[in-house]
Amino acid sequence: MAFSLRGDDACQATLPTPIPNPYWVAFSPSSAKLVGIDLDANNLPADKTWLEVLSGNQLHTACHQFPNPISTAYSGHQFGVWAGQLGDGRAILLGDIAGQELQLKGAGKTRFSRMGDGRAVLRSSIREFLCSEAMHALGIPTTRALSIVGSDLPIRRETMETAAVCARLAPSFIRVGHFEHYASLQSHARLKELADSLMEIHYPESLQADEPYLDLFKRICKRNAKLVAQWQSVGFCHGVLNSDNISVLGLTIDYGPFGFLDQFQIDHICNHSDQSGRYAYHRQPQIMHWNMACLASSMIPLLELRHSEKEAQDLLRLALEEFPITYAQTWQSLFRKKLGFSAEKDGDVALIERLIQAMHDSKVDFTSFFRNLGKLNSKLPISTFSSRDDFIDREAIDIWLTDYVARLQNESSIDSERQLAMNQANPKYILRNHLAQFAIEQAQKKDFSEVSKLLEILSRPFDEQSEYDAYSLAPPPNLNAVEVSCSS
Ligand code: AMP
Ligand code: MG
Repeated sequence: MAFSLRGDDACQATLPTPIPNPYWVAFSPSSAKLVGIDLDANNLPADKTWLEVLSGNQLHTACHQFPNPISTAYSGHQFGVWAGQLGDGRAILLGDIAGQELQLKGAGKTRFSRMGDGRAVLRSSIREFLCSEAMHALGIPTTRALSIVGSDLPIRRETMETAAVCARLAPSFIRVGHFEHYASLQSHARLKELADSLMEIHYPESLQADEPYLDLFKRICKRNAKLVAQWQSVGFCHGVLNSDNISVLGLTIDYGPFGFLDQFQIDHICNHSDQSGRYAYHRQPQIMHWNMACLASSMIPLLELRHSEKEAQDLLRLALEEFPITYAQTWQSLFRKKLGFSAEKDGDVALIERLIQAMHDSKVDFTSFFRNLGKLNSKLPISTFSSRDDFIDREAIDIWLTDYVARLQNESSIDSERQLAMNQANPKYILRNHLAQFAIEQAQKKDFSEVSKLLEILSRPFDEQSEYDAYSLAPPPNLNAVEVSCSS
């Protein structure tokens, strides 16, 4: 898809920089299946040239499957401020494979690397790899990860680390920042080409609409509104919701200082470089809305092809107002499912919000609580429900549980059926920071088994997998605060 960008300075032919002595760190069988790569008995590609291709060394082998690798320019707003031109500073698009684009992250410098080294370290690559695959298994739209190739090449970050190359897949890696790029340069013809090819390949319905560009905008907004509601429903914090990190396909993209909430704090900030809390958990919906406003601004010239400036602005403003509506509807529907309600009733939103407040007040573990709520026996006194003990204010949670049981009875809910449904809405396993950290520490000692094990567990997040119970638990108190920043 980024091939549609070919033809100007925003698209630069870029060869990966070879990396010394590459070795496999991780490989996703599920992603391999998506693009039709055959695997051997060790779940690694049967065709050995893949190690060369996915390390960025392919030009030194006989494999020329991807002859025209590129990196692209995009621009955007970082932490709410216009940052001008950015770009694929360390991502190189190799080409297409089975309807997906294949990108290498960390394969060396590009025209857009500015001061950076174009590399990624093992630590951040493992986090991106595991979280991409975990999100997919949770049913949340995301770029996928195919592999991590490691090398002993030293890389300086806060300390010395080693390099890794993560291969990722997506139907398109086009971001809001690509639109902002052409709009900021007033390259209206290129802006139009970008929107037209996006519609042709990924939003063909928009081409049929009376107002194709407006329809495209609405669909992008809708996907991102739903996406952010899904993040909230699993306690996911992205960490850097800059407009250049927002996909126009509504995919979760750019896994940096992300985190899943353990102890629930509505204003949790997962990125310790985010001092003002701009990207805190509870602000994600409004920040995504803000990013859609950036997209709207950059699409004004497209609507001006048919309308006056004022009309174009009014149409986009009106379309933008649908965002909070879609978000709220999706959020309510997801949280109703988390609570095991099959019908919609008045008062549900207030009930959900009271629970969220109580969980915040007691810093209750987000994932375990919802999973355990499925086990609540509505025929027994609420004092028998074990997670009640996680709340400091017992009286408040008892009142809430009493109301909850009444609400279940109101729709003649049957416990066994409710539990089955709730287990499909409330994952048992998420990529907790301390789990990722342990896998990283093992991998830094060249033991990659924990990465594979986590991949396997997280690829079935809703299944009991009781042999892995320990992986479902909240972190022990001493491991509560693994800090992550933008440095990766
Ligand atoms: P991010 O915060 O990862 O979205 O990156 C913001 C900008 O910095 C983008 O233009 C990236 O391409 C660039 N960048 C991040 N890390 C590196 C790196 N190691 N080398 C070169 N450019 C980078
Ligand atoms: Mg980025």
